[in-house]
Amino acid sequence: MVSRAFNYGMEYAPTYWVASAGDPPEDDGPLEGDADVDVLIVGSGFTGLSTALFLAREHGIRATVVDANRAVWGCTSRNGGQGQNASGRLYRSQWIERWGKATALKLDAEIREGFNTFKQLVSEVPCDPQPGGHLYIAHRERKMAFLRNECKVMRDVFGYDTRMLSAAEVAQTYVDDKESCGALLEPDGIGVHPLKLAFGYLRMARALGVKVHPGTAVLGVETVRGVHHVRTQRGVIRAKAVAFATGGYTRNDVHDALSAKIMPILSNSLVTRPLTPEEIASTNFRTHLVITDTRTLRYYYRLLPDNRVQIGSRSAITGADASNPRHMAVLVEGLQRKFPSLAGIRVDFSWWGWVDVSHDMMPRVMQPDPHQSVFYAVGYGGNGVSFSAHAGRRMAQRIAGKWAGYDDLPIYNSELEYPNVMGMVKWKGFAPFRRIGQRFLYQKYQAQDEKR
Ligand SMILES: Cc1cc2nc3c(=O)[nH]c(=O)nc-3n(C[C@H](O)[C@H](O)[C@H](O)COP(=O)(O)OP(=O)(O)OC[C@H]3O[C@@H](n4cnc5c(N)ncnc54)[C@H](O)[C@@H]3O)c2cc1C
Repeated sequence: MVSRAFNYGMEYAPTYWVASAGDPPEDDGPLEGDADVDVLIVGSGFTGLSTALFLAREHGIRATVVDANRAVWGCTSRNGGQGQNASGRLYRSQWIERWGKATALKLDAEIREGFNTFKQLVSEVPCDPQPGGHLYIAHRERKMAFLRNECKVMRDVFGYDTRMLSAAEVAQTYVDDKESCGALLEPDGIGVHPLKLAFGYLRMARALGVKVHPGTAVLGVETVRGVHHVRTQRGVIRAKAVAFATGGYTRNDVHDALSAKIMPILSNSLVTRPLTPEEIASTNFRTHLVITDTRTLRYYYRLLPDNRVQIGSRSAITGADASNPRHMAVLVEGLQRKFPSLAGIRVDFSWWGWVDVSHDMMPRVMQPDPHQSVFYAVGYGGNGVSFSAHAGRRMAQRIAGKWAGYDDLPIYNSELEYPNVMGMVKWKGFAPFRRIGQRFLYQKYQAQDEKR
C-alpha cells in the first residue's frame, strides 16, 4: 500500500488557535534512542491526550505519548471548536435505519454520556467555552422537512428538548444568515478554543506523570512474544501496549489494523478580523452558538468571543492541491452568501487539516485482536472535538483491562471497515481509487446542495 511521504518535526499550522492559545505547555522533548514503556500512545491530539489523562486519573497508569510533530499538531489544533452531542457523521434517524431502535437508544445513551465527559473536561480547563446548543440551519426550504423529521426523532425517540425555528425567528433572535429558511435548535453544543482545551488535557496529564514526546514518529510496529517493538526515527520503543490516536494523519503502513481503514478528507477554515458594531448589527449576530448548515458539503461557523467569525467547509481532494486559492475562495463565497454585508472583510487566519473519516461514517474505539494489546480510537468524521474525550476514556478502559458492558454498541464491537463500492463489496484494494470516487461525489453533492 502506498503511503504519503512521512513528514515529521513539523511546526503548527497558522491557525487562529495557535496565535491565541498562549505559549504551548512544557513537554518532555523528542524521545532519544531506545526505551521501555508500559503503554505507548501514538498521537497527541484530543484522543491521545484524553486516553493518557484517563489512564492516569482513573486507572493509575502513566502512559507515554509520542507525536511525529509538535504536541497537538494535528486536527486538534485546526478545527472549528464545535463540540456537539454527536459522534461520526450519521444522524440519529440514520442510527435507527442502520441498527434499529433498541441499539440506537443504547448508542444515544453512550454518546450522551460522552458529551458529559467532554463537558466535565471543558469545565476543568479555561478554554473560552460558548455553551447553549447547536443551531442547524436549513440552507434551502426543501431541507426543512429533513430538519423537522430529525427534530421529531430527537424529541420523541431520544427525549431531547429540540425545537424548530422559523426563518424569521432565526433572523431576529439568532443570526441573519441570508440563506436561512429556518433551523433546528439542539439543546447541546459548546464552542471551545480547541487548542487551549488540548493544552489543558496535556497539562493535566503531565501533572499525573504522563510523558509527552513530540518530534517522535512511529514508523512501524513489530510484535515479538507479546512485546511491541515500535520503531521511531531514533530508536525502538518496547511497549506492553500500543494505542493509536493518529486521526486523519494515520499512515497506511503504521499498523495492519489501520491500513486503508481511514479516508482522510481535507477541510478548510478561516477566521475574519473582529466584526465592528455596525457589522454585528448588519448581520444581526445575537448568538455565539455553534452553527452548521444542511449542505452535505456543509458550512459550519460561529461568532468567536472576540467577535471574529470562524467559518469552515470542504477543501481540496488531494494534499498537493490544498494551497490552491480556489478552495479558500469557497469559504469566502460561502461567508458572503450568508452575510452580504461582510463582502471583502479581511481574513486574518486561514488553514486546512485532514479529517479522519471512516468508511461507514462512524468512529471506532477498538482492540481488534483480543490476544494483542493494540488499540485504536479514530474515525470521528469531523465530529471529534467532543466525542474524542470519551473515546479516550473508553480506550483507557480497554488498555487497563477494565472493559465491560459496551460490546453491544457498533462503535465498540466491530472494526473499522475497508473502502467499499456502493456500500457493497468491502476491499482494501479499493483504497488507491478512493480519490476518484471522492471527486465524483463532491461534484454530485455540490450540484444537489446548491439546487434551488
Ligand atoms: C478544518 C477542520 C475543522 C474541524 N472542525 C471540527 C469541529 O468544529 N467540530 C468537531 O467535532 N470536529 C472538527 N474537526 C475534526 C476534529 O478536529 C478531529 O475529529 C479531532 O481533532 C481528532 O483528534 P485526534 O486526537 O483523534 O487526531 P489529531 O488531532 O489529528 O491528532 C493526531 C496526531 O497523530 C500524530 N501522528 C500521526 N501519525 C503518527 C505517527 N506515525 N507517529 C507519531 N505521531 C503520529 C499527528 O502528528 C497528529 O498530531 C475539524 C477538523 C478540521 C481539519
